Amino acid sequence: MTGKKVIAIYPGSFDPVTFGHLDILRRSLELFDTVIAAILVNKEKQPLFSPEERLEMMQEAIGDFGPRVETIYFDGLLVEAARQHNANVIIRGIRAVSDYEYELQMALMNRKLAPDMETVFLVPDQKYSYLSSRLVKEVFSRGCTPECLVPDAVARRLVKKYNLPQ
Ligand code: ADP
Repeated sequence: MTGKKVIAIYPGSFDPVTFGHLDILRRSLELFDTVIAAILVNKEKQPLFSPEERLEMMQEAIGDFGPRVETIYFDGLLVEAARQHNANVIIRGIRAVSDYEYELQMALMNRKLAPDMETVFLVPDQKYSYLSSRLVKEVFSRGCTPECLVPDAVARRLVKKYNLPQ
C-alpha cells in the first residue's frame, strides 16, 4: 500500500444526468478517493442540452455528494483528459448485456492507448437498469413527465426544453 489517492473519471454525455448515473457515482465514491464526472463536449450526435447546461445539471445533482466529486468538460480522447486530471481509473456503468459489447471495445481500446489505466464497470441498482438519457428524452418529448427518472431540477429543464405545461 502506497497510500496514494485513487482518482477515477466517469465519462459520459449526461444529456441529461439521470438517477442511473447518480447511482453509479454514489457507488464509485465507495471505492475511490475522488471521482470526476467528465462531460463529453464533442459528439457527432447533436445533444439536447449544451455542455454548460449538462455541467450545471450535474453540479446541481451532486450537491449532496461533497467535495470528492468534481465535474469537468472533455473533448477528444478520454485517456488524455484522465491523464490531465491524474485519474488512472475509468468508470463505466453496465445496465445489461447490451451495454457490454460496446463497453468492452472501448475499455480495450483505452487500454491500448493507456496501459496504466484500468476500466471499472459498475452495475446500478436494478431499478435503474432500464433507464437511459435517450429514453428520458423520448418520454418527456412526448409530454410525459414521470418522477423517479431524473432529479427535479433536471425534470424542470426538460419541461422547459420541450415547452410542456409547467
Ligand atoms: P454515453 O457515453 O453512452 O452517451 P451516457 O452519458 O448515457 O453514455 O452514460 C455514461 C455512462 O453511464 C455509461 O457508462 C453508461 O453505460 C452509464 N449509464 C447510463 N445510464 C445508466 C443507468 N441507468 N445505470 C447505470 N449506468 C448508466
